[in-house]
Amino acid sequence: MSTPLTVIGLGPMGRAMVEKFLDHGHPTTVWNRTASRADGLVARGARRAATPQEALDASRLVILSLTDYDAMHDVLDGAVVAGKTIVNLSSDTPGKTLRAAAWLAERGAELLVGGVMAPAPLVGEPAAYVFYSGPREVFEAHRETLAVIGRPDHLGEDHSLAQLFYQAQLDYFLTALAGVVHSLALVGAAGVPAARFAPYLKENVESIAMYLDEAIADIDRGRYPGDLADIVMMGATADHVVGAGEEAGVDVVLPAAVRALYRRAVEAGHGRDNWAALYEVVKPPAG
Ligand code: NDP
Repeated sequence: MSTPLTVIGLGPMGRAMVEKFLDHGHPTTVWNRTASRADGLVARGARRAATPQEALDASRLVILSLTDYDAMHDVLDGAVVAGKTIVNLSSDTPGKTLRAAAWLAERGAELLVGGVMAPAPLVGEPAAYVFYSGPREVFEAHRETLAVIGRPDHLGEDHSLAQLFYQAQLDYFLTALAGVVHSLALVGAAGVPAARFAPYLKENVESIAMYLDEAIADIDRGRYPGDLADIVMMGATADHVVGAGEEAGVDVVLPAAVRALYRRAVEAGHGRDNWAALYEVVKPPAG
């Protein structure tokens, strides 16, 4: 029989996961702070728990899909968690994640940390993968069950690793999405519909991957040859992007932050290096 499990937290992600677990025949117990969010899942065969404790008692494997780790404490404080494997798929900082691992260990529960790299509609689809960290034997024991929601990728025993990789992916993703909105607002302020500019923007987005291998090699070597395009030139362009935004009356907080990085890189002596040398001013100061 498929492993029974509990899912706590029925936002878009939790609901998508429960649907996949039900499709794969896992007896699934659910609990959500706002009880009505479970209605559709109960109609499909999930079992509704009346309290977090009832949800915990129903299965050894307990999956959390909550807004953050504070929500985990709101739900689990005061509950008996001993003997449970808690798979927390909620976003938060690596530091909070480590503290949660210690908190659960003190109470006799094991934590597997997960970072789901897929939006709700893609949960359980071939493109979905999930970073995990925590005890390998716990991960291996549940690998097959966890594969239902996305390809499981165990990064190591250190609980914070999955959260670190997840946040690093989101660091890029959120910044890139904000850049897309900014670019469209700039042309939009001149009356250009987003759809008219979109084909060019899409080519730009797709071309980013082309620059990665070289930049990664430069970062690993700590050398940034800037013969074709250097930081002085790109910093001047960053000035122009801010200027264009100011002329258009759009918010310039994002391009101004980018400009600040280029200026600091020039001040630090990287003017003749390529853009990947921004890494040197972003990384923590030595010592
Ligand atoms: P939501 O934030 O919409 O929902 C999360 C759930 O957390 C809800 O069930 C909510 O309950 C519950 N919750 C929040 N605070 C508390 C609290 N203090 N006590 C009890 N329950 C609480 O998130 P999503 O479902 O969209 O996402 C879940 C996690 O997955 C998040 O950490 C998110 O960053 C991550 N994620 C989301 C993706 C997405 O595309 N949505 C993609 C990848 C990861 P209630 O219904 O009562 O409000």
